[in-house]
Amino acid sequence: MLNYPRFGFRPRRAYEEFLDLASHELFHVWNVKRIRPTRFAPYDYTQENVTDLLWVMEGITDYYAPLVCRRAGLVSAERYLEMLGESLTQLARTPGRAVHSLEEASRDAWIRLYRADEDTPNTSVSYYLKGHVVAAMLDLEIRARSGDRATLDTVMRGLAADARCGGTIPEGGFGDVVRRHAGVDVEDLLDAYVRSTVEIDAAGHLALAGLHAAARPREGTDDRGGRPPTTPAAGEPAHAARPHLGASFREEGGRVTVAFVANGGPAERHGLYAGDEIVAACGYRVSDVRGLDARLAEVGVGERVTLVVFRRDRLEHVDVVLGRRPADTWWIEAAREPSAERAARYAAWLAAPHPGR
Ligand SMILES: [Zn+2]
Repeated sequence: MLNYPRFGFRPRRAYEEFLDLASHELFHVWNVKRIRPTRFAPYDYTQENVTDLLWVMEGITDYYAPLVCRRAGLVSAERYLEMLGESLTQLARTPGRAVHSLEEASRDAWIRLYRADEDTPNTSVSYYLKGHVVAAMLDLEIRARSGDRATLDTVMRGLAADARCGGTIPEGGFGDVVRRHAGVDVEDLLDAYVRSTVEIDAAGHLALAGLHAAARPREGTDDRGGRPPTTPAAGEPAHAARPHLGASFREEGGRVTVAFVANGGPAERHGLYAGDEIVAACGYRVSDVRGLDARLAEVGVGERVTLVVFRRDRLEHVDVVLGRRPADTWWIEAAREPSAERAARYAAWLAAPHPGR
């Protein structure tokens, strides 16, 4: 059974979310129901089952969900890359990726992900999200390192065959699985991206499939990434020159409260806290997020804004010096003249010809 909003099938974007959900859960018929960590054999339904491998169970499943939709012709290769760019963006906006490894995120699910609070994005990373991104990078590297004789599909088919004979994945054993089924060593990538918090070189890995990936500053509250930068309207400042606060807000019953304060951003440095209710900015009443955004947009990078907030019912003045927008918004596009090898890899991966050849 899948729980999904009754009116969530239109517009197209919403329908794609449904496809993604259905695809994800179908993939679980193999990955996690049959292919599973040794720790899950047998499942013990009476207590928490702790494993380092949730990123394989959920992250790889999350990677295949949109890829399967692409290969089935339900989304275009271009749209697929836009969605992958959105995932890179979401990860780049999660400060916790620098302090919490994918392996730890898997192991801590019962005390972190299932018990999330307003600070979770600062202290933790989702093994769904980062697992999805890492799976994509592993797939491209397995292709390149095997001379395109093997892919992550080869590994998953091998695991499904193992499972038919009762095989399971031991803790920390994914590198062995890749070596056995794909004949390549990816231990260096697992050390960097799974066992520690090294920043993912997405541009480097995506270049292997004739792609150009880059990051730019966010252009607005609704900017989820996946698309190249737009040129600001005449007379408007460049996006990189627009101010950055490093906090997000929620609106409830005419009140605007701080939902999240990013570690290392201006809001955190100047003492704004999640839960603060913003009543005024720059001397004017704030009654919705749009109004607050409009006040902040009038302040320049390096300038000070005074926020009047209720913090646990006590009135406080918080002065924040606004910073520069970080390049946390990724997009991916076809490189202009890729080598024949890279173009062929793109075509085999995304079931579509490389647009640059
Ligand atoms: Zn799942």
